[in-house]
Amino acid sequence: MTRFWWMIGLASLVAFSACSGTPELEGPESPEPLEPVGQKTFAITVEQAVSAGCSTSQVKGLSLQIVAQQNCLIPNALSEVPSGSNISIGSNIFPYMQTAARDALVKAAKAKPSTTMTVSSMFRSLAQQYLLYRWYLAGKCSITLAAKPGNSAHETGRALDISEYSTWKSTLESNGFSWQGSNDPWHYTYVGSGTHDLSGTSVKAFQMLWNINNPGDLIDEDGIYGPQTEARLKASPAGGFAIPPNCNPNDPPEGVLDTVSCDEVGGWAQDPDEPAKAIDVHVYFGGPSGDANAKGVPTHAAIHRDDLCGPLGSCEHGFSLPSPLSLHDGKPHAVHAYGIDSAGGANAQLQSSPKNLECAPQIPAGVRRHILSQDVMQAWKLDSFWHVMPVSDAQLSAIDESTDLPSTPQLVKADDGSSAVWLIDGPWRRHVPNPAVAAAWGFDLTQVATLPAAELNAMPEGTNVRGRPVLVKATGPAVYLIDDEQKTAEPTDGGVASDAATGKDGSVSEAGTGGSTGQPDGGTAGAAANQAAGWESAGSDSGCSVRPRSSRSDLAWAAMALLALLAAGRRRAS
Ligand SMILES: [Zn+2]
Repeated sequence: MTRFWWMIGLASLVAFSACSGTPELEGPESPEPLEPVGQKTFAITVEQAVSAGCSTSQVKGLSLQIVAQQNCLIPNALSEVPSGSNISIGSNIFPYMQTAARDALVKAAKAKPSTTMTVSSMFRSLAQQYLLYRWYLAGKCSITLAAKPGNSAHETGRALDISEYSTWKSTLESNGFSWQGSNDPWHYTYVGSGTHDLSGTSVKAFQMLWNINNPGDLIDEDGIYGPQTEARLKASPAGGFAIPPNCNPNDPPEGVLDTVSCDEVGGWAQDPDEPAKAIDVHVYFGGPSGDANAKGVPTHAAIHRDDLCGPLGSCEHGFSLPSPLSLHDGKPHAVHAYGIDSAGGANAQLQSSPKNLECAPQIPAGVRRHILSQDVMQAWKLDSFWHVMPVSDAQLSAIDESTDLPSTPQLVKADDGSSAVWLIDGPWRRHVPNPAVAAAWGFDLTQVATLPAAELNAMPEGTNVRGRPVLVKATGPAVYLIDDEQKTAEPTDGGVASDAATGKDGSVSEAGTGGSTGQPDGGTAGAAANQAAGWESAGSDSGCSVRPRSSRSDLAWAAMALLALLAAGRRRAS
């Protein structure tokens, strides 16, 4: 009891005897209140600690973590000042200084071993300064002045207040300390060599600790104490975070969801821990990750983008998916994108995610061709999510119906060395104009059958294969491909064409990639296959008597499909 009242008395005394803070302050900053320790509560937040007493030791656990994380930023910057011998540091004081200042203080104390040096204020972590500032604002705990968090001289690791200031003045000054002067006589600042500018590091250390422990609520690690940081500080556990400081924290992926349009969903992503490596991205349509109604699609951010080279230090970080036609229903659909951490850490939602996808169904001109079964869908690697656009019954019936889609795609080339790849479609041969179109259709270019040139050339030439498959479905179960009506002259020898379409090569075009995983994963035959298949450069229509009919939109799709193909190739290579 006696000791308690003694402390209360001293506390009120010390309230007058505070020290100076930053130039913003109009007087000396109050020292830490002298509250008996022993009522430390663990499971409270920093905000709860504001009203839980007058001891900054409530946030000691968190403060120790902040100091340790600061020592990650500047190795060995802060050291504990040893109590005992003739240095008296109360348990209400946080006994840390910059290492050079600590050494100088210990040296000064040893110079007068029989004289006591009573420390009334020393280092303050961001959390401690926050408590003092709140108590100052509330007129509590005898705090008559406290700097805003991040602005106190006692956060620099170079300041201390001592009760016997005049006794120690010459000794401290000869050891690199500067006396504050009569306006704040208790306050000394170490101005000798070997110190660092710690301004902002306590804030930055806290921000890093928060991010290590809250991967779902990441904040900027900029060392600036603003509302974003203050809100997290209030919510932080006073006794310290569950995950301790880490000098090499695993940084989360970064990136941007740039584009969500009726043509493309794309952006970029990079993991700062492995900046040159391409990482995976998960795109969710219809809701965030974890939403049972959302469809998640994995892709790989490996597309070369010139605009990324400078800012990111390497260029292959873009990703691009086609806009899924099943969502072109005139309604809004949220699109979320997440970078996948290369070290298995938490995934990070990309900037600008989510974005809204809202597209009216745009039915291309042409005829409709019935797709007879799910087996045919799979053989063509057509997917209800990526390729099937919902239309009204009236819209469907307004489209002329043509022949059914063949049961499987047949790809052929001539045995005369020409590079053109053809799709056999009934009696017709239809040019696949470039690898991008093949990729958009999921055609496997490693599985192209060879026909005698005379046999192939005898077939009538139809229109080019369209840039991408567009399917439509109304309220009924039937699904149709929108395609060109083939109107060339009847073949002179229908039997040959028929054999080619359904003969010995029937299963060849399906071998290899298999699966019905949809557009992004279908058609990943690999860029190397282009050479093997003898492709002319994209855009060339040599070997085709029919000029390309691609619309601008088709070209855009084809370009994106090519990018996806290249990305797939890189994935295989890595
Ligand atoms: Zn001071």
